[in-house]
Amino acid sequence: MARKRRTGQKIYDSAAWEKTRRAYMESRHYICERCGKPAQICHHKEYLTACNLNNPHITLDQANLECLCHECHNREHESSREPITFNASAEIVKVKPTAELEEFADARAAIATMNF
Ligand SMILES: [Zn+2]
Ligand SMILES: [Zn+2]
Repeated sequence: MARKRRTGQKIYDSAAWEKTRRAYMESRHYICERCGKPAQICHHKEYLTACNLNNPHITLDQANLECLCHECHNREHESSREPITFNASAEIVKVKPTAELEEFADARAAIATMNF
């Protein structure tokens, strides 16, 4: 029996991520680092990929984070090769069909089971 794809699932369910994200956003006062508007998104400068999803130096390093508003975040990802758009809760809201998709789904499954 085929499993239903879990689109919309949180990429990060770990307490470590939640803590890192909140600390970083608070340190930036929830202000977008690009336009100065209220920010909701904690963006990874080095995009998460199937290869680095399990690397805390990428996922949990504040030096790799950027505090962004929805607009700037979507602009960032639209102009990139990344096939995914996130909402404020780091939930996937849009996935472009690409060859990398299966790989990303695997990584997402892996992160759901990981322990920081
Ligand atoms: Zn902005
Ligand atoms: Zn992002």
